[in-house]
Amino acid sequence: MENPSHADLLITDAELVATVDDARREIPGGWVAVTDGVVSAVGGPGDQRPEAARTIDARGCLVTPGLVNTHHHLYQNLTRAFAPALTGGLFDWLVTLYPLWARLDEEAAYVSAYVGLTELALAGCTTSTDHLYVHPRGAGDLITAEVTAARDLGMRFHPTRGSMSLSVKDGGLPPDSVVQDDDEILADSQRLVEAHHDRSPTAMTRIALAPCSPFSVSTSLMTRTAELAAALDVRLHTHLAETQDEDEFCLATFGRRPVDYLADVGWMSDRVWLAHVVWPSPEEITRLGAARVGAAHCPSSNMILGSGLAPVAELRAAGAPVGLGVDGSSSADSASLWLEARTAMLQGKLRHGAAAMSARDALEIATRGGAACLGRAGEIGELSVGACGDLVVWPLEGVRFAGALSDPVEAWLRCGPVAARHTVVGGRLVVEDGAPVHAGLDEQLAVHRRVSTAMQAAL
Ligand SMILES: [Zn+2]
Repeated sequence: MENPSHADLLITDAELVATVDDARREIPGGWVAVTDGVVSAVGGPGDQRPEAARTIDARGCLVTPGLVNTHHHLYQNLTRAFAPALTGGLFDWLVTLYPLWARLDEEAAYVSAYVGLTELALAGCTTSTDHLYVHPRGAGDLITAEVTAARDLGMRFHPTRGSMSLSVKDGGLPPDSVVQDDDEILADSQRLVEAHHDRSPTAMTRIALAPCSPFSVSTSLMTRTAELAAALDVRLHTHLAETQDEDEFCLATFGRRPVDYLADVGWMSDRVWLAHVVWPSPEEITRLGAARVGAAHCPSSNMILGSGLAPVAELRAAGAPVGLGVDGSSSADSASLWLEARTAMLQGKLRHGAAAMSARDALEIATRGGAACLGRAGEIGELSVGACGDLVVWPLEGVRFAGALSDPVEAWLRCGPVAARHTVVGGRLVVEDGAPVHAGLDEQLAVHRRVSTAMQAAL
């Protein structure tokens, strides 16, 4: 299929196509063809282009693979920038917001996912995960509600079945009303995998299992979730080593540091990717890398909550896949992977000097790195023949890019801010000319306002 005679979609005449493929090919004047939802050919000005049902002119634009979001809590956009929770660290922030989130229901899960996935697509995301760990009693099937929103939008979606089983009365942080018992969590996890998990290379929906964190679930739930994930062959996710408070909590509660605890409960596996990983010791970084445990780097969230600067270069050097995450919309508040990629680049330079992290490093983390975290290396996060037809056309024009003539990839992340001109998932436009293609956004924003107003009145 190197040069099929007919394609469904052809992106032509890009300023540069940055494929992020195995050879990291960059093609000035390049084009990309998508057929039946996958990349069917990639070429330059001298290569024969296929005929296409639809052609998009990418003159003046950078074309990249779609960005992959490896950590989020979509429902939190219902309590964005919530005034009573703006100055606390992570633990204070959580304790303030748990009572509001106890109002979650299927309507809230659907509308927050619809709005949140639209926001992500506008900034070039084509695949997102979600970590929904608040399942109030009687709230209904929240994960299926979000899967429905992703399908309505045409976004590739990896929701995780989150969980909390330790409430205040057991020494945990959350109130009783939002925790469940271990058997109930595991049975629902299995049900959701059977209902939604697609193992095909072009899957639009996959499920992973995701206890919230060591301070909100029991040790037996951590162990049993790892066993269930192995039995079902799905991935595992949780928060780990986000703050120094967590180190102290784990030492006081388990007599172990977070990474030692992770090993004890059977999670040192390449099935696992962890959110944050800000505070591992050098020896722990080596162990995480050797086990190929992935890390979702969330630079804005780590700064806004004062958590710290994650050791991204060290984790990558140790062999750990590193992806990018916007994190929950009420900790990071914004949800743009372009912004996270830029912030990751700036943090890398801040930690280790100006040469330590380039725009290409950040692009790689945002694409291939994320794909590796989600167990989808080769399927998403690169523009190579046979990979999913997920790509972004970024305009490098106008006042923001005037004078940026010599390196389109560095310009993309150093200049800006920039949003996607077109976001394509599986060969279908989700964002066209900078706007969502679906007609329902205004209506969903009105529902979002009603639901979030009621939730914020709950305090
Ligand atoms: Zn998080």
